[in-house]
Amino acid sequence: MSDSLDAADRQRFAGSYAHRKSALSHLAYGVSSTPRATQNPVAIAVERGEGAHVVDVDGNRYIDYALGYGPLILGHTPPSVIAAIQDELGRGLRTASVHRGEAELAELIAACVPSAEQTSFVSTGTEAIQLALRVARAATGRVKIIKFRANYHGWADGIHVGNAIGQDGASALGQDPQAAQSVTLLDWGDAGQVEAVLDASFAAVIVEPAAINGGCFEPPAGFLERVRTATQRCGALLIFDEVITGFRLALGGAQERYGVTPDLSVLGKALGAGLPISAVSGSRAAMEILSSGRLMHRGTFNGNPLSVAAAIACLKVLQAERGEIYPRMEGFAAQLCGFLNDEAVRRGVPVRARQAGAAFQIFAANGPVETLRDTAKVDKDKTLVFTGALLRQGVMTLPRGLCYLSSAHSLADIEATEAAIAVAMETMAR
Ligand code: PLP
Repeated sequence: MSDSLDAADRQRFAGSYAHRKSALSHLAYGVSSTPRATQNPVAIAVERGEGAHVVDVDGNRYIDYALGYGPLILGHTPPSVIAAIQDELGRGLRTASVHRGEAELAELIAACVPSAEQTSFVSTGTEAIQLALRVARAATGRVKIIKFRANYHGWADGIHVGNAIGQDGASALGQDPQAAQSVTLLDWGDAGQVEAVLDASFAAVIVEPAAINGGCFEPPAGFLERVRTATQRCGALLIFDEVITGFRLALGGAQERYGVTPDLSVLGKALGAGLPISAVSGSRAAMEILSSGRLMHRGTFNGNPLSVAAAIACLKVLQAERGEIYPRMEGFAAQLCGFLNDEAVRRGVPVRARQAGAAFQIFAANGPVETLRDTAKVDKDKTLVFTGALLRQGVMTLPRGLCYLSSAHSLADIEATEAAIAVAMETMAR
């Protein structure tokens, strides 16, 4: 919560301030995931969502580009997803049952995602990453993993390292410093480093194929292709972490967009349209250790029917409307980034935006940010000031400036967002 006692903010966000204060008494840190508390000037308490909009407890309405940190690719109230969940509820909760939906969903994923001949479900991206790493280690009989700096693969001890440029170690208090000893950190985008380091002692290379968490960077030409070739040469598995990019950069994710097929793909977020579900998918060969039942895959909530029903409905919409949905989301993202960058240059405000498909990153920086390494120049505090200024104008982004488009955003939303950006820029220029 911001310490500034701005009277207008106190009034505008009175309900969110009051909620934050009372939530702190029993809910640790007042939120269920630490970054949510960083929203400037206060963590907005959301009352309801509707299409591409959310309304807070004070009745303020926002055009939502946070989209639940990514999953809400069809917006907050997609009719067919909501109908599928309601229909599913009519059959009881059936948690931990074997049911027809899980096989149907695996078949649908196979039809959408190039690498996905076989799929196993879990509930969160963090869990799915853990499963993918275990599959890679079990399948190869090796332990070492290559990970890239500023790629994020969830918060488990064994991979939660090097999450930002300039921070190569463990990223969280309480992390077991031994747990990630088998991880070698390299620079994302530099295939030469992979070719130099990778040998037959590595189980896998894991990569965000587009570095969305680092600031929305698409892969440099040839990077993914060369990493693909290098892994094949050494018998290591290539794992694409498509928790964000899956079903977002294209129906078939980054692997469809960039034409490189990994051995294993980790899917999450948009898969469930807002309900918790994630998956590890891969070629029959890479998944054999799981599909044979030799590798123990456990979890009470894996493949839970409600999330599966939402995911089936979501993928059916994306599949049927892919020709309209993806170009529209990407076009809107391009329009907003173009507008923001033009306005910023015209007004001399050090704020910029970078796009990767249906996602874009807004940041304040003291100099050009052309590569992931340049993100060391991003001014996180000023970025929060700018996203706070947007919030006051009715535009909600992730606090750190990452934005997602959904199929529910309209041209009117985009134009209203442009107007909000112009006002937010004015406040930055003062
Ligand atoms: N991988 C990527 C690329 C992510 O962005 C995230 C979360 O943001 C995760 C993995 C972890 O997913 P979850 O938050 O569902 O555990």
